[in-house]
Amino acid sequence: MARPVVHVFPCLKDNYGFLLHDPDSGETACIDTPEADRILAEAERKGWRITQIWNTHWHPDHAGGNAAIKAVTGCTIVGPKGEADRIPTLDRQLVEGDEVQLGSIRAQVIETPGHTSGHIVYNVPESHLAFVGDTLFALGCGRLFEGTPAQMWTSLQKLRALPDDTTIFCAHEYTAANAAFALSVDPENAALRAYAEGVTAKRAKSMPTVPTTMAAERPANPFLRADDPGLQAAMGHPGDAVATFAEVRERKNNF
Ligand code: ZN
Ligand code: FE
Repeated sequence: MARPVVHVFPCLKDNYGFLLHDPDSGETACIDTPEADRILAEAERKGWRITQIWNTHWHPDHAGGNAAIKAVTGCTIVGPKGEADRIPTLDRQLVEGDEVQLGSIRAQVIETPGHTSGHIVYNVPESHLAFVGDTLFALGCGRLFEGTPAQMWTSLQKLRALPDDTTIFCAHEYTAANAAFALSVDPENAALRAYAEGVTAKRAKSMPTVPTTMAAERPANPFLRADDPGLQAAMGHPGDAVATFAEVRERKNNF
């Protein structure tokens, strides 16, 4: 099996577009559809035909280009069952544990409610790739529009359990702002400080900070550290991961 190829490119103001390509079968999936024209142009430039769309959640900057891309390519669209009423273009509805096949590439569906109530993540275990939508960001996490802190903390723990060498494709370039916030709640964290310096250097050269890896996020991302005793004490909730997570999220909302 040839290794899957992922093409990452900016869309809209701060979204990323992702094309996942299987060299063996020639199939290509676009993960979310922030900007149909741009995604179709990138596929064309690569000489790839989009055969599938994999949606993570219903927000317009993730599913808004579905119909336009399907009209051109005739692709199949899959996405969360929990949001099928809000993604009318779905051909197949997915739940936790379902598998999606793109040629020889197999992705597993992980339900991660919190940002939206039905949000899902696509994990490709054989290649250690995860498309996490707006659940996990580099040094951040999605806003809780439709879920509770307890739900989101559970969702993030599922992602945190992925292997260290998992490449994490987040859907937005929010990392510089996330780093500034993370340092405000966890200023003595050496892993975070080193990570943040790297972010500053990359953004100074307009380089992307996505994708990231689980090895980079686990020790540095405050939203993955709500069960860390030091962070719990700093947030005023010793022994309470959910309350700590809620406090960190609330501070980020007001940062
Ligand atoms: Zn979103
Ligand atoms: Fe988004």
